[in-house]
Amino acid sequence: MPGWLHVGLASLYNVRMRLLAHPFILYLLVLAFGAIIGSFLSMLVYRLPIMLKRRWEEDCEALTARHKTPGRRETFNLALPASHCPHCEAPLGWMENIPLIGFIALGGRCRHCHTRIPLRYFLIELITTVAAGFSLARFGATPMGILAFIASACLIALTFIDLEEQLLPDAITLPLLWLGLLANVGGLFTSLEAAVIGAASGYLFLWLIYHAFRLLTGKEGMGFGDFKLFAAAGAWIGWELLPVLLLLASLVGAITGLALIALKRHGRGTPIPFGPYLAGAFWLALFYGHPLLFTYLRLAHGH
Ligand SMILES: [Zn+2]
Repeated sequence: MPGWLHVGLASLYNVRMRLLAHPFILYLLVLAFGAIIGSFLSMLVYRLPIMLKRRWEEDCEALTARHKTPGRRETFNLALPASHCPHCEAPLGWMENIPLIGFIALGGRCRHCHTRIPLRYFLIELITTVAAGFSLARFGATPMGILAFIASACLIALTFIDLEEQLLPDAITLPLLWLGLLANVGGLFTSLEAAVIGAASGYLFLWLIYHAFRLLTGKEGMGFGDFKLFAAAGAWIGWELLPVLLLLASLVGAITGLALIALKRHGRGTPIPFGPYLAGAFWLALFYGHPLLFTYLRLAHGH
């Protein structure tokens, strides 16, 4: 090992040891880090669907009008244009860019045009901050803790994008799947064998249900994004926990769906995205899978 790398790793180890001796400071740093990632996620939830739609439009144009030169459009990606109010397009000041605090300081309204900023931005930042705290509390300052937080961040982004757009982008579900398989090469959350079988059977199982449902009712009950998300869950937690995960997601989904119909917020025919329930159950299974499985088995055997 080169000398500088050795010195670098040793000082990182020192910092970690010092922080572990002061859990309060460690938690404070992790929560602040969570809030910053949350701020990134709220931007991602807003921008990624727009970027995807623009790309699809461009692909369609390219297919249908090959003879025309496609019109140039303004750049829109994760970095550009800089953060601004979606209503009056006033750029955000540095104060407003501070996660959580910015929203509270502004009272949830744009400083210039006083339009309400969707509560979603604040919620995403808050949930991500809490998820960072949970990752540290459950798995400690370890590679497992870091990976669990990355998975949490992906699930938060997927949940909110699915709620807004009924879409689970491949750009998040597929890297989540690969990362789960990689994490389990070292057997971090489950054995590699259980992870590979989990990824394949997760996809296949929902794919079969989708086609059975379509043949029986003539309707489409889920999107392909749901299969990929379930496959990713299998890659992280292994095939053994998938039945519990699906049961949990369906149960919460059915209860919420019935409640929404009862409250007349939803017509019977309106599709309700399944992604948020899958994502929530995925998170629970990743963090508390073994206690969950234990409870499930006890209930299933009736004692
Ligand atoms: Zn504004």
